[in-house]
Amino acid sequence: MEHVVLKEFENMIGSRLLTEIDDRTSYGYDGSFGQYIPDCVAQVMSTEEVQRIMEIADQHEIPVCARGASTSLSGGPLPVHGGIVLDFSQWDTKLEIYPDDLIMKVSPGVRTGDIHELAEAHNLMYPPDPSSSSICTIGGNLAENAGGPRGVKYGVTKDFVIGLEIVTADGKVLRTGGSTVKNVTGYDLTKLIVGSEGTLAVITEATLRLIPKPSDTRTAMIIFEDLYTAGKSISKILTSGVRPSKMEILDHNAINKVEDYAGLDLPREAAAIILVEVDGDPDVLVKELRIVEKALSEIGVENVQVASDKEEEARLWQVRKLVSPAVVSSGYTKISEDATVPLSRIPDMFRKIDEIKKKYDLNIVVFGHAGDGNLHPTINTNMRDPEEVERVEQAVEEIFNYAIELGGTLSGEHGIGTMKKAFLVREMGEEGVEFQKAIKRALDPKNILNPGKIFPEKGEKRLVLRND
Ligand SMILES: Cc1cc2nc3c(=O)[nH]c(=O)nc-3n(C[C@H](O)[C@H](O)[C@H](O)COP(=O)(O)OP(=O)(O)OC[C@H]3O[C@@H](n4cnc5c(N)ncnc54)[C@H](O)[C@@H]3O)c2cc1C
Repeated sequence: MEHVVLKEFENMIGSRLLTEIDDRTSYGYDGSFGQYIPDCVAQVMSTEEVQRIMEIADQHEIPVCARGASTSLSGGPLPVHGGIVLDFSQWDTKLEIYPDDLIMKVSPGVRTGDIHELAEAHNLMYPPDPSSSSICTIGGNLAENAGGPRGVKYGVTKDFVIGLEIVTADGKVLRTGGSTVKNVTGYDLTKLIVGSEGTLAVITEATLRLIPKPSDTRTAMIIFEDLYTAGKSISKILTSGVRPSKMEILDHNAINKVEDYAGLDLPREAAAIILVEVDGDPDVLVKELRIVEKALSEIGVENVQVASDKEEEARLWQVRKLVSPAVVSSGYTKISEDATVPLSRIPDMFRKIDEIKKKYDLNIVVFGHAGDGNLHPTINTNMRDPEEVERVEQAVEEIFNYAIELGGTLSGEHGIGTMKKAFLVREMGEEGVEFQKAIKRALDPKNILNPGKIFPEKGEKRLVLRND
């Protein structure tokens, strides 16, 4: 990058411009893998700074990659074409709640967990709850349209954002949506930007929608002897007349990884467990769990254990939270997928993953947001073993192909990033991808914003985990 450009950035943000190789290297990673070193990192703290940087980037055609906490599992914040990383993680200064309007206004670097805490202090709730909420930022959640366990009842990030302030690729500031829940003025640009993975605009402020906090919750753990019945139970619960607020599944491998890691007294022999939470009025919750039990007994599922107190409930949810750390603790690289299928096809997906696991002789753990059909087949692999990596690539490709064949999607919540772009055409078709690219070209004609993401680049037709 030209010295004069760096000088201008430095004059604007001083020591918040990072140019040393050690600093830049530490901005080359995310929660997936791969390393790409940016030319510089700008720790931005205001809309004016972002605007000016975008103007300069536009003038010199320098790639700009926004970055929150870098917990992305799809390669979203990796600066694959170098250029500038805009680090939003320090800009957590605006966290304002307007309880009477049921809204919050936040700067992009605010941690999702802090949003939950403030809402709950006012007896309100911000439902989107990615499992990474204690570290990830709202900017990253908006750009990925993040989901989480509560998605089954409440929906995902896009359902709780009503307005944005954004900076365009050529450095203009504008607002989308507003502060009202109803707003049908013009195209819905808020929904277009949410989930666009930093490729259409940079988000500098968001107005979030809140709802009253449910007065209580109850949780049950259902234990299964076979995966197929576990899969069937998901539709059975969701059609029982009860709407769970969370419904998560762990397969045999996931249960045992957590048990090895944390010793929480889980049923090691089980083929799977499903954790179901209901929320609302305490008297109703007891009845709702009885309805769930009755529905399950109709398909021969009897092993339903209802948490007797809050401590036990917390322990059960800790089980789900610990899956990722437990998988990571094995030391090898963790490849996390999030193929999503129609609810009735979950048993088929489980069967297929089991087949793939045996065919490629891989260590695959399956867990995820069962109530959304959003499974996370997660593979532990030794990236130094090219032969094993090759098998992983083939296994992942088969998982994606099958999800699409079942009428599902490549990604329920992690985004496409670098990891799934080679498969985009398979899901959307050439015309579908072209239509999306037309939007990208219209809003970012110089391809400055997060280039190398979502759309396959020349020759990218399959997943390549190693480049040697
Ligand atoms: C243990 C673990 C559990 C997880 N659980 C879940 C889960 O339950 N549900 C889920 O959906 N995801 C989950 N994730 C994935 C990840 O946490 C989410 O994708 C999250 O939204 C990323 O937020 P971040 O702040 O880390 O963003 P980053 O990873 O830094 O960036 C993500 C994307 O957002 C863009 N971006 C960041 N800030 C801005 C901005 N201000 N303007 C424009 N673009 C921006 C980046 O360019 C990138 O494309 C999990 C990850 C981990 C490691």
